[in-house]
Amino acid sequence: MPDHDFKSPRLFVDAAIAEGSAIAAEPVQANYLLNVLRLGEADEILIFNGRDGEWRAGLAKPAKKKLDLVPRRQTRPQTPPPRLTYLFAPLKHARLDYMVQKAVEMGAGVLQPVLTQHVQAPKVNIDRMRANAIEAAEQCGILTLPECREIVRLADVVEGWDDGRRLVFCDEREDAASPIEILRQEAPGADALLVGPEGGFSQDERAMLRALPFVTVMSLGPRIIRADTAAVAALAVLQAAVGDWTPPGTPTVT
Ligand code: SAH
Repeated sequence: MPDHDFKSPRLFVDAAIAEGSAIAAEPVQANYLLNVLRLGEADEILIFNGRDGEWRAGLAKPAKKKLDLVPRRQTRPQTPPPRLTYLFAPLKHARLDYMVQKAVEMGAGVLQPVLTQHVQAPKVNIDRMRANAIEAAEQCGILTLPECREIVRLADVVEGWDDGRRLVFCDEREDAASPIEILRQEAPGADALLVGPEGGFSQDERAMLRALPFVTVMSLGPRIIRADTAAVAALAVLQAAVGDWTPPGTPTVT
């Protein structure tokens, strides 16, 4: 892991970041920095917007109850977003919040909710998804925000699929062969993962997915895992087998 600052508070901002041009903090950000962390004008934080890298910023109080973030110097240049697309059947409230946060921490670059036959929560609140993605990005040190997409039907996802991309399908009915070797052999460049709803996939869906040439079936072991746990487990297995590790010999301190 590169040697960057994990101690300073780190906030996402929407505005463009350029040296010296003040960005008005959102009221919740101002409250967090001034009243929760008790920071003042002598302190600095880190900010990022997904486009301009990460910056060290000073705090300035132009008026009562107002707080400006003043970018001073770039600490890390912008990195490209992770290429991994995480496709999932939406869950209810707290479990969905958890799943979105964990998917971001585990390296998903695109969050794609998918409507399946046994889905329990057919609607997704994109703003809430984005808020969870921001929270996770702020805390885990990444410089891009994942793209939060509108929900689409499973049939439409696979219909419009780019055949060159491998989709790893977590099938709860798959016999439990270790996925690491399978992924390395069948799916070395895999950059998409599909986890189903709490009710599982229907027989038709499983048959349809298994027949597709770009799908690799993955087992997470001989237990049925809850969908939110499956998200973390599946992303960990995929990353372990074919993930975004630093190649050996690459310097990590910049
Ligand atoms: N209620 C369903 C289970 C759904 S688990 C049933 O009883 O069959 C939710 C999702 O997590 C599944 O659709 C699958 O994508 C994933 N999952 C859970 N356990 C798994 C396992 N052992 N192997 C592969 N995927 C699994």
